[in-house]
Amino acid sequence: MKTILFNLNDIELEKFITELGQPRFRSKQIREWLNRGAPDFSVMKNLPEDLRNKLNDIAETLPLKIVKKLESGDNQTTKFLLELNDGEQIECVLMRTTYGNSVCVSSQAGCAMGCKFCASTLLGLKRNLTVNEMFAQVLIAQWELRSDKLKDIKPNGDANNGDVSHIVVMGTGEPLQNTQNVIGFLERANSELNISWRRITVSTCGIVPGIQELSTWGRPINLAISLHAPVDELRSQIMPINNKYKLIDVLNAAFDFSDQQNRQLMIEYILLGKRDENDEIVLYNCSNEYAEKLSELLRGHNVMVNLIPWNTVDERDFASISGNAVHRFQDILIKNGIHTRIRRERGADIGSACGQLRLKRG
Ligand code: SAH
Repeated sequence: MKTILFNLNDIELEKFITELGQPRFRSKQIREWLNRGAPDFSVMKNLPEDLRNKLNDIAETLPLKIVKKLESGDNQTTKFLLELNDGEQIECVLMRTTYGNSVCVSSQAGCAMGCKFCASTLLGLKRNLTVNEMFAQVLIAQWELRSDKLKDIKPNGDANNGDVSHIVVMGTGEPLQNTQNVIGFLERANSELNISWRRITVSTCGIVPGIQELSTWGRPINLAISLHAPVDELRSQIMPINNKYKLIDVLNAAFDFSDQQNRQLMIEYILLGKRDENDEIVLYNCSNEYAEKLSELLRGHNVMVNLIPWNTVDERDFASISGNAVHRFQDILIKNGIHTRIRRERGADIGSACGQLRLKRG
């Protein structure tokens, strides 16, 4: 198996390079390229060609390889299908917005949570991602952002504008089943890439001990809770994790976190419809009554409810609801004084939502 240079520390990298009969400074040059997310050795123009060829035969740069790259029609969203060293595949999405460039990072290959509306969990959990595998997703996005400017660059050049500014851990997987690696990854993103805590969001289906671990960690990141239902009975039907951690316990842990960090809590709420026996779409979790119930749960807390149109997953038996129904639900929350916004769909044309690309593999 080829050696992944990104996974070597400085001493190991130097040993690897000097054993090839190369001077030590080459390992520093290579490290700079690795830190920039160089996808292969051919771009390392300050190395002699025979060394680049040699490295190409025996090593890889990053612990992830790009299998597929899809651009949305508006060029705002780039989706990467990435292959890990052991052949598992994950997804990572780069979103260019007016407020900055955001990367949606996967924390696991697959997912064990079994949410009934989600594509990522259909094939179960394969494994947790390492710190390096999460960090490399951001580097790949960074390289993409810089690639226009990279045609003639030298390492250490000034390519700082338009870099990744935001990280959302909302890709495949449940980050709070891999909490210590997620924390290790975010610490690195903060210290090495200068991504401020306030521009980092971790999204969870509601693992109470994991939320408490984030509180102990004590960084002012944004926490997002995938709620999707305002009563236990309904929530347990679509999110099996609710049988373990009840809605109110999840919310209390999340309120504690956001109060302690003085951050607004994000509540994610997918608006789901179902087809009835006449093939008409009926509201599933977004009736007026549920809007009132949701308002009661959240009233008095510093929250933002993100209403998410459901991205169709063929294998799943839900339906998208009409724009009118979305607005009716939102209006009730607003009337009750709850901050809310409707999430803009990004990259729907490239299957950018939640494990859709990985599922279509093969
Ligand atoms: N496991 C974490 C993070 C990954 S999912 C969590 O549950 O929060 C990221 C977000 O996408 C969650 O809010 C999830 O509920 C939502 N999601 C999953 N499948 C979706 C779909 N088909 N359409 C819209 N949102 C979806």
